[in-house]
Amino acid sequence: MLYLSSCPKCKKGTIEYTEDKQGKYIQCLMCGYNKNSNSKDTFKIKSKIS
Ligand SMILES: [Zn+2]
Repeated sequence: MLYLSSCPKCKKGTIEYTEDKQGKYIQCLMCGYNKNSNSKDTFKIKSKIS
């Protein structure tokens, strides 16, 4: 899944959200920010596009 303008670091980047065996994972396609996320509340989803 991709989320527009949801990056907690650069604020403008598109976040790619992935779930696998190791858990939930987000990465910013613009600035490269990435983080394992086991909580929905770790970042705010503004625009869901897929
Ligand atoms: Zn970013």
